[in-house]
Amino acid sequence: MTIIAATQNINKLNEISQITKDFGMGLISQADAGLGHVVVDENGSTCEENSLIKARTICDISGQPAIADDSGLFVDALDGAPGVNSARYSGVHGDDAAARKMILKQIEGLPWKKRTATFVCVITMVYPDGRTIVARGECKGHIAKAELGTGGFGYDCIFIPEGKRRTFAQLPQAYKNQYGHRGRALARLRELLQI
Ligand code: IMP
Repeated sequence: MTIIAATQNINKLNEISQITKDFGMGLISQADAGLGHVVVDENGSTCEENSLIKARTICDISGQPAIADDSGLFVDALDGAPGVNSARYSGVHGDDAAARKMILKQIEGLPWKKRTATFVCVITMVYPDGRTIVARGECKGHIAKAELGTGGFGYDCIFIPEGKRRTFAQLPQAYKNQYGHRGRALARLRELLQI
């Protein structure tokens, strides 16, 4: 069974492909399915809603099962912002560098114990017959005082996972794949699919 990964985000796609390599899922990208031009309006108010919108759109157009990832960084001191608006927090969709600067500025001077945050990833799988499977993964941690590290993408260089002293951008990718929000969500999906 071929499953389309309903995302335009190459970084997410790379992580999803690495993590699911052992699952035997036969994943192909939205672009390789000839749907690279499809832009989905993510107008939901939760990661669950947006993930479902993306997966359902691609499944409906292609007639093939699709999985979609919606993720975000929820900073406690900012009442959960940027949260579901993580991709457009700065006002410009996809400008993660500007969004990181905003967050660091907004919580500037806060002590470590008040810099808590959670990375959330919701993976939804939609089948052509309408069945849906929803898998959520979370990773708790802290916001660093400054950007640290060159690996990863998005908010990785400001997020220090629980029990570590380095950001996701400094830690090995294998660590993030196993203990990060996306790794956990995909592990849950695997459990639900019993594969
Ligand atoms: P969306 O899921 O497409 O709405 O995008 C979520 C936003 O969070 C984007 O700005 C991503 O760059 C960012 N993001 C999603 N997953 C990660 C991650 O694993 N690390 C760092 N940033 C992420």
